[in-house]
Amino acid sequence: MPSLSGLPEVPCVRCGRRVRGLGWAELCPDCLAERKVRARRLASRISLAATVLMAAYVALRVPPTPMARLYGAIAIVATYIIVRRITTLVAMEYLK
Ligand SMILES: [Zn+2]
Repeated sequence: MPSLSGLPEVPCVRCGRRVRGLGWAELCPDCLAERKVRARRLASRISLAATVLMAAYVALRVPPTPMARLYGAIAIVATYIIVRRITTLVAMEYLK
């Protein structure tokens, strides 16, 4: 059934609810929000684990000079941010 905007109403892939303006094989806003919550939770766990590993590596392997410690700290923060962002993107694609 065509909607007011002229676009066909497409059912959500997951719950089957028909939402106006939704593309084929897309999730409705409710399912998308739920998936986002789960993706963020998973991403924070994985990035925390990666950060702990990176911190252990920096503590054990990086020489104790101030400059090396500074770069080590930057690497730890960067690891957290990058792993979290990548994991969130991947989880948004592949979570059920
Ligand atoms: Zn849905």
